[in-house]
Amino acid sequence: MRALISNDDGIHSPGLAALERAARRAGFETYVVAPDREQSASSHALTLHRPLRVAKTGERAWVVDGTPTDCVNLALCSILKGTEMDFVFSGINTGPNLGDDITYSGTVACAFEGTLLGVPSIAFSLDFRRDDPAAAADFTHAEEAALAVIRMAQETPLPGETLWNVNMPPGRPKGFLATRMGKRRYGESVVEKIDPRGRPYYWIGGAHIDTRADGTDVAAVADDFVSVTPLHLDLTDYRALAEMASVLGRAGLSSAEPGPQS
Ligand code: MN
Repeated sequence: MRALISNDDGIHSPGLAALERAARRAGFETYVVAPDREQSASSHALTLHRPLRVAKTGERAWVVDGTPTDCVNLALCSILKGTEMDFVFSGINTGPNLGDDITYSGTVACAFEGTLLGVPSIAFSLDFRRDDPAAAADFTHAEEAALAVIRMAQETPLPGETLWNVNMPPGRPKGFLATRMGKRRYGESVVEKIDPRGRPYYWIGGAHIDTRADGTDVAAVADDFVSVTPLHLDLTDYRALAEMASVLGRAGLSSAEPGPQS
């Protein structure tokens, strides 16, 4: 079996090496296509307005001067075209991708892109400095957890259009939990300062406010469990769909529903 490995922390991230080791231990032939530098919080951005450059850095490793999504797209549609991939594995990200992180995450975007292109995909992230802001990331336990999830994915195929978002706690996990997306809001954490030329600059901070609701990814990782959240590419809010039609109808904007004048 073959696996494409990518990330948003860049080709030199130790988390990428840990994920590649886990995939190899599960029996995969691994192919790495990763950004040349950190691209965290790049979301699902695709580079369309400049050319992309690719450099081969190993027998089955390439570096791209683009986004995480560029890497997966180029890998599957060009660099490795004709080499069938059984999985896309993304990460292991240096930091969690919990709740609302998911929409900003380049790590999760790699898995979105893989899924869009028809390859089962899993995103892995490590919440390494939950308690100590100065802590360095240690991927020892995360590699073991990734291996367990990869073996599970080999046994149980992911449903079409579904990806798994996996988050690991720091240290040895207590176990694994199936979770839903929680709430993690990035609050009012913009730093405003003056640069050496007297002009103001702004830096969006990383402070966040977690809501620990039962059954969520946020709560599972806070309780030292590995969180596995199935995510679907279809972002439609089906609970709101009927109401949306009514709203359009009441506004007189829908031909399917009578408007207020009729
Ligand atoms: Mn990252």
